[in-house]
Amino acid sequence: MSVVITGLSKHFGSVRAIDDLSIEFRPGAITVLLGASGCGKTTTLRCIAGLEQPTAGEITIDDHAVYASARGIDLPPEQRELGMVFQSYAIWPHMTVFENVALPLRAKKVAAADIDRRTRGTLATVGLSQQIERGATQLSGGQQQRVSIARCLVADPRLILMDEPLSNLDAKLRVEMRQEIRHLQRRIGATILFVTHDQEEAMSLGDEIILFDKGKVVQRGAPEELYFRPRVRYVAEFLGKANLFPVTVKPGPGGAEILAGSEGLAIARGEVSGAETPGPALAMIRPEAWQIAPAGAPGLPCRVEDTTFVGDRRELQLASPLGRQIVVTPGFRTFAAGEELSLTVAPQHMHLIRENAA
Ligand code: ATP
Repeated sequence: MSVVITGLSKHFGSVRAIDDLSIEFRPGAITVLLGASGCGKTTTLRCIAGLEQPTAGEITIDDHAVYASARGIDLPPEQRELGMVFQSYAIWPHMTVFENVALPLRAKKVAAADIDRRTRGTLATVGLSQQIERGATQLSGGQQQRVSIARCLVADPRLILMDEPLSNLDAKLRVEMRQEIRHLQRRIGATILFVTHDQEEAMSLGDEIILFDKGKVVQRGAPEELYFRPRVRYVAEFLGKANLFPVTVKPGPGGAEILAGSEGLAIARGEVSGAETPGPALAMIRPEAWQIAPAGAPGLPCRVEDTTFVGDRRELQLASPLGRQIVVTPGFRTFAAGEELSLTVAPQHMHLIRENAA
């Protein structure tokens, strides 16, 4: 199902929650609206749902205008044919799991036999067949969230809006539920718009990520695109850890030379993306992209300042002649504070940002 917003604004008094926003969402995919708290992602979702009246603009769902300020169109949520899942499960405590999930079908006056079949089928889809007759509040947090997802799915929506639906779950369950949502989406082929401020959730869940800042889209693309090819510093820093430092690009016949620091230290040479034009740039190297060589080998000479064990990886904080701390993930090899080493990076693992070069 296609969703298009055009010139959408929502102002709360003097606060411009979103301002002249235009986005075409990809049909049949999971699009994650990502950004820091207060950047306008929830407001965007609520405008699409019909829970918030925009100040101006247009919203179409499958080519039908559901909101158009100029034409006075503003369909109520129930006529927009979409499903919603929120952070709070919003399930009824006095009802059983079955009754909670059957609710939207009862409201639509669906025949009793169909209600039974569809409700049981949907509960099987979310793995709650064993809990059908249980009181909804006798379930764990993850199971309660599955009830609210089932209640959304039971009406067969082709567009599903999810606003931080996993934030109340513990870390392990959150990861499992992400996979479940992905599998579900693949099975039913719905368009899902998913709001989160968690970059890891966004990258593992999204076919596409739209990164917001202050009511505007900063960059959109596949998770790998945003992670490896950020257009601006904000994107590089929002998604994962990034080593960023000013460099000078000198294009040459054998590829570009990338010089860093006041002494013009050559830190990479070759086919670096974005190095076709000479001049200043901001180099970005992800912690896992560095290669570690013994001290004295060609490269950037560094000294280990600190090491952090993060379970699935180690991080080294290094002092370098660039005057900035560099973060490196060297796998499981251990290093001691004070140890000297040399860093190199393959040209294809360096990315140049042309904005904010300093
Ligand atoms: P969060 O992740 O914290 O929910 P968000 O990115 O979803 O943040 P919004 O909730 O869309 O951001 O809020 C965008 C801006 O609009 C914020 O500055 C917020 O304070 C403001 N805002 C949102 N709703 C209202 C409201 N009902 N009244 C006044 N201001 C509001």
